[in-house]
Amino acid sequence: MPTPSYSFEFFPPKSEKSALELLTVVKDLARFDPKFMTVTFGAGGGSREGTLQALRNLQKAAPVPFGSHLTYISLTRREIDHYIDLLWDQGIRHLVALRGDMPNDLVWPLDPDAEYYQYTSDFVEALAKRHPFDISVGAYPEKHPDAPNLDADLAALKKKCDAGATRAITQFFFDNEVYYRFLDAAHKAGITTPIVPGLLPIHDFSKVCAFAERCHASVSDDLRAKFETPSANLAEDLLCAQIEDLTAHGVNHIHFYTLNKSSLVAQACDNLNSK
Ligand code: FAD
Repeated sequence: MPTPSYSFEFFPPKSEKSALELLTVVKDLARFDPKFMTVTFGAGGGSREGTLQALRNLQKAAPVPFGSHLTYISLTRREIDHYIDLLWDQGIRHLVALRGDMPNDLVWPLDPDAEYYQYTSDFVEALAKRHPFDISVGAYPEKHPDAPNLDADLAALKKKCDAGATRAITQFFFDNEVYYRFLDAAHKAGITTPIVPGLLPIHDFSKVCAFAERCHASVSDDLRAKFETPSANLAEDLLCAQIEDLTAHGVNHIHFYTLNKSSLVAQACDNLNSK
């Protein structure tokens, strides 16, 4: 079975202790020769400086191309230009360009306003113009919660790809059929940009369920039943089965939402690499 390439996503650590733990995780996962690693931006109350600092530390720890997530929803165009110039000067050549979750004081869709980007496609276009970044965008196999339907969401994804994104990374899903159906629909919508599956290892099932509910990612009754009386290595077995099936379907790149932990991801990659 051909081995896919991997990429790993982390969030900026919130304490010195978790920063040290993250260095260990990153060094452990670097042995899989990942295509890239990324650091999230703003999610869960993180700051811009937190992302920049985490990137600086991780760049020193592992010889891997690092990318920064960047959300535009609370930043002016001028603030974004300043931030991406800092990233570029720091040697960052990859951005994961996102809108970000809507703050309570803003209403979607945004008013067109010269100070702010209105859509992620405008944002992608501007990023690509300022520096020749490799740009990833988000994709939602079960549709983004704000989208009226999947067709509208695919039209938005196509605009982001046409604006210069080099790949889309999906929201997590647990049933690969959801991803395969989405690939078919994206193909029919004329999207030719690679759509990389994003996988979430299940370290804590109840937290994953709460997160999935917020993101509108489905958790089947079958999966819930399995975690009611979990077998010894259930989370690892599920992740291994998921990536084996993706690889058998020709998927050549898998992105992991690591949650700053390497155990399940490393076991799953080791398992696949040994086949
Ligand atoms: P968008 O593509 O902007 O879509 C949002 C909504 O707008 C959808 O309903 C879409 O259909 C609609 N839309 C988009 N363009 C148009 C258009 N031109 N016309 C009409 N409608 C349009 N959040 C963070 O805060 N920090 C992170 O680091 C982070 N990392 C993430 C990484 C990945 C891989 C993914 C999948 C998500 C991540 N998120 C992160 C969450 C993300 O910010 C939210 O899901 C956000 O609500 C949507 O951002 P987006 O750019 O993916 O969506």
